[in-house]
Amino acid sequence: MATSATSRLIPTGYCWCGCGKETGIGSFFLPGHDKIAESAVILVEYGGVPRFLQDNGYGPGGKNPRTELEEWRKSGRRER
Ligand SMILES: [Zn+2]
Repeated sequence: MATSATSRLIPTGYCWCGCGKETGIGSFFLPGHDKIAESAVILVEYGGVPRFLQDNGYGPGGKNPRTELEEWRKSGRRER
């Protein structure tokens, strides 16, 4: 199973949040379910957004999330 950050991700036809429902062709998530999955993983793995930010090099003294987002958008929204 490919889990590398550089591997290409392919939708499976079922929502990746874990709800078990089918998605449209080419979609990873049902509408809004990406945020459910994101919040769940951040809480379970990091305990909250501050730790999530700090452990990924953001926050006070680190990278600025808003600036990084602007640069990511300008760069063509590449997948990481
Ligand atoms: Zn779902």
